[in-house]
Amino acid sequence: FNIHVTPLKGNNDEKIGVVGLITDVTERRKLERMRTEFVANVSHELRTPLTSINGFVETLLDGAIEEPIIARNFLEIISAEGKRLANIIDDLLKLSRLEDRRTKLNKQPVDLAEVIGNTITMFEGRALEKNIQITTEISPKLPLVPGDQGFLSQVMINLVDNAIKYTLTGGTVHISVKFNEHEVTVTVSDTGIGIPIESIPRVFERFYRVDKARSREMGGTGLGLSICKHIMEAHGGKIRVESDSSGSQFSFSLPLKE
Ligand code: ADP
Repeated sequence: FNIHVTPLKGNNDEKIGVVGLITDVTERRKLERMRTEFVANVSHELRTPLTSINGFVETLLDGAIEEPIIARNFLEIISAEGKRLANIIDDLLKLSRLEDRRTKLNKQPVDLAEVIGNTITMFEGRALEKNIQITTEISPKLPLVPGDQGFLSQVMINLVDNAIKYTLTGGTVHISVKFNEHEVTVTVSDTGIGIPIESIPRVFERFYRVDKARSREMGGTGLGLSICKHIMEAHGGKIRVESDSSGSQFSFSLPLKE
């Protein structure tokens, strides 16, 4: 609490009392702390690939460039780390757009079956590489939902991307869509590595990963689910997760009426 006291004086400048102002600053402090933590996290996340790029460039300049096989290997690492930096920055920009109150959703009737179809096409190659089957079950007569097609596609992309990333070779990713009179629910289930019970409440936090090294290796930024959560909130929808050692299930629901 911030406490501010001012004496209250009468017409002849005599003290007749005091005025006290008590402000609850808990929320403001909390926001400040969150902002500071966020900046520290961002700096750290950007530093890691940069340090690696600088290290490999220096080693090349120190002579490794003369060994073509080693040089190529280093350049591939530099290129991958550069892409990672670009991904982190793209995700941060998406998050800041979503957090900006001035950002308006471009809401139109969206056909989620089409969004799902496009997402599957996008990931066919990756799924094939890992011998992962993608199956779907879409309720007939699925109604259109009011939403921003670009943002809703982003949610599907992030969920399917994760499902494939965190599922071992030979697994399955199943996408189902159901609806009732109030909402449409999309579920992405995988037969992957699952999420430990203590991490489940944290996976929607910015930069939270169960296994940092694994996520990095897979090209993850730790921001994908946080972006999904923001997009759902902007649509008045909900996103949730269930998971155990036999796989994970992410579902989001969108209201049919605005
Ligand atoms: P990342 O870029 O690391 O994948 P996300 O925000 O998309 O970041 O996800 C946060 C973390 O949640 C991941 O690092 C991973 O530990 C966990 N996670 C997300 N989706 C899945 C999934 N389908 N199966 C297992 N773990 C998952």
